[in-house]
Amino acid sequence: MKSKAEVVVIGGGSTGTSIAYHLAKLGADVVLVEKGYLGNGSTFRCATGIRQQFTDEANIKLQKYNVERWKKLSEELEYDVNFKQTGYLFLATTEEEVEAFKQNIKLHNKFGVPTRLITPEEAKEIVPLLNADEFLAGQWNPTDGKANPFKTVFAFARKAKELGAEIYEYTEVTDIIVENNEVKGVKTNRGTINADVVVNAANAWAPIINEMAGLDKEFIPIKPYKHQLVKTEPLKEGQIEPLVCPPAWNDSYVIQDGEDGGVLCGTGLEHGPTYDVTPTYDFLREVLKWATRIIPALKYVHILRQWAGFYAKTPDSNPAIGKINYIDGFYIAAGFSGHGFMMAPGVGEAMAELIVKGKTHVPLDWEWYDPHRFERGELRSTAFQIG
Ligand code: FAD
Repeated sequence: MKSKAEVVVIGGGSTGTSIAYHLAKLGADVVLVEKGYLGNGSTFRCATGIRQQFTDEANIKLQKYNVERWKKLSEELEYDVNFKQTGYLFLATTEEEVEAFKQNIKLHNKFGVPTRLITPEEAKEIVPLLNADEFLAGQWNPTDGKANPFKTVFAFARKAKELGAEIYEYTEVTDIIVENNEVKGVKTNRGTINADVVVNAANAWAPIINEMAGLDKEFIPIKPYKHQLVKTEPLKEGQIEPLVCPPAWNDSYVIQDGEDGGVLCGTGLEHGPTYDVTPTYDFLREVLKWATRIIPALKYVHILRQWAGFYAKTPDSNPAIGKINYIDGFYIAAGFSGHGFMMAPGVGEAMAELIVKGKTHVPLDWEWYDPHRFERGELRSTAFQIG
């Protein structure tokens, strides 16, 4: 293991591997350390969804840029991450929701995201098995999509290594070395790595890393909430291609996995804060109640698996991205609150450029995601959390 690097990235999920790749691409000498195996945090447990349909300018702009990145990512990384533009379909059950959809659509269209209001009949053309009679209208953007989280992490890590980065799995950071308010490196269970820059990409575990650097755990109040998914046996492709979500039904959603056609079913029921990832029966009951109401034919499909991971939630459901002003050389990109996978390409690029060049061309609003906003008592408008 190296004992010195320019940058140490802590965390080997989609965020950390993307940051490491983009740093290596800019010529930085980078080491990524991951306490388990790559992706074992939340990334390999996510619902694969990638959307631009947020309700504020900062997230819409970042995600519009990200979708452009996702489109070219397989080619750039020379490995197929299976990105597909199969859309996101939100469904309204009340007139108030239809009105809210209209406002959302105006905002999306203002920033070039082609969301539109569709009828239940049109929704049924997109998702033939949909229980369309239950809905008044859909908020549909065909340019949203999904990708394979396993392949994405693998592709970022592989390319990062090709460009000179070192990646150490089963290497747990146990302390951050800080002298005179400057970061000097990290201590791990396998030895010390000296570095002038350390990036906290540990998401649900980010407050523990912050504490190691001498910061208050509540300085960036990220809390781990257990969220779960079930996956069905594979179905023929093309039946539930978009992510389909009636928000009024406890934020429940269904989406066919782009890899094998199994249906991923999620819902808003969460537990926590907790670091426990044991699947629970109450989730199974809740998610199947809604999934079979959205797509009645799912009643006849077998469930193969159930698992849990974390939404690393901040009080406004927006991540903390940027420099920590109290400690020179200490950066964070964490607290993604259920939408970190979709943001990984652009966030990794912006962070790498910030570290190496001091600025970025990525349309990422640093002020919006400012890690210091919480201690100032500022909250952004809450980002819609659904995967
Ligand atoms: P993680 O993948 O959690 O990576 C952080 C890593 O840090 C972990 O691997 C951990 O082991 C490591 N680490 C922690 N402490 C240390 C230490 N001391 N030393 C070394 N390493 C350490 N997002 C979407 O964009 N779309 C979706 O559809 C979606 N659906 C979801 C559905 C569910 C059920 C869940 C649980 C999440 C979903 N998410 C979704 C959220 C998404 O999974 C996360 O936002 C994203 O994976 C965060 O990536 P990350 O790399 O920041 O964090």
